[in-house]
Amino acid sequence: MNNIIIDLRSDTVTLPTAEMRKKMAGAAVGDDVFGEDPTVNRLEQEGAALVGKEAAIFLPSGTMGNLVAVLSHTSRGDAVLLDKESHIFCYEAGGSSLAGGVQLWPMRGLHHGAVLKIKEAVRPPNIHFAPARLLCLENTHNRQGGTIMLPQEHEKIYHISHELGLSVHLDGARIFNAAAALNCPATDFTSWCDSVMFCLSKGLGAPAGSLLAGSASFIEKARRNRKLLGGGMRQSGILAAAGLLALEHRHSLSEDHRRARELARGLSALAGLAVDQPLTNILILHTSKTGLNPGEFCDLLAERNIKAFPFGEACVRMVTHRDIDDSAVERVIHAVKKIV
Ligand SMILES: *Cc1c(COP(=O)(O)O)cnc(C)c1O
Repeated sequence: MNNIIIDLRSDTVTLPTAEMRKKMAGAAVGDDVFGEDPTVNRLEQEGAALVGKEAAIFLPSGTMGNLVAVLSHTSRGDAVLLDKESHIFCYEAGGSSLAGGVQLWPMRGLHHGAVLKIKEAVRPPNIHFAPARLLCLENTHNRQGGTIMLPQEHEKIYHISHELGLSVHLDGARIFNAAAALNCPATDFTSWCDSVMFCLSKGLGAPAGSLLAGSASFIEKARRNRKLLGGGMRQSGILAAAGLLALEHRHSLSEDHRRARELARGLSALAGLAVDQPLTNILILHTSKTGLNPGEFCDLLAERNIKAFPFGEACVRMVTHRDIDDSAVERVIHAVKKIV
């Protein structure tokens, strides 16, 4: 039992179920670059409807989805405003600057008091400045521990952005986690953006793939940009079939959130450990008062067949997902009790 590995490093480690593999094997397929894969077409339609947009496009990864979005909203030399801690700025290999020729304009704490900060960041026309054209938001926020930006906040930011001539792209890699946590439809958030990317390959459990959704004309541009980046796939209905089932899995994300809370409750009772109350499926532990640094803490967990990531200098991140059940939560609490 204790030799089964519990992997809390990320919700990307979820494995396709037998049911999912069966759907993939039986998928009707065609050449998607010709628009002829019926399963991809269905996934794009269902995905677009779930976030209230006219159209969507299926891509190999979330990183490519964000890059295609930036390319489709901007021209070379434009500025893109985003949070300094955002995935696009921190973890996407600088692709927007490289492939899009845009200036990324990172802002500290965009998620708090955003409207004022955006007003300050959009400078008047001047030959010295790259003109700001796009604002990127992230919900739930990965580096901020799966925290949620509320729909009202999105609404305010959307209006001010449009007044200032900015389009709004939402990196909604985990937007269905935000929706599950507030028990609302994803459209409560996505009504307030011009485009949204969401991942099928994280908590939703597909082996690969993301969708980018927006207006029909925006997605037409995105199709060219996906092709340009080498992301035009062929019989990708095999993957889209997994994606369709993954979309149904969104209803079970609240179970992951419940388990994250249970993990937090169990761990915060242990000596020296401080735990941020998780709002979704990401749990941040502060280990400094246990006398262990995050690396040492994770090494001791690994000896007990539990995987987690150090998160900065002082924290450890744990992520709950479809492959973590109640008994795994108990085993983690038990193991950490031994360690501290
Ligand atoms: C994972 C993630 C991405 C990128 O998705 P990949 O499929 O891993 O490329 C983008 N944004 C956020 C917030 C993420 O967590």
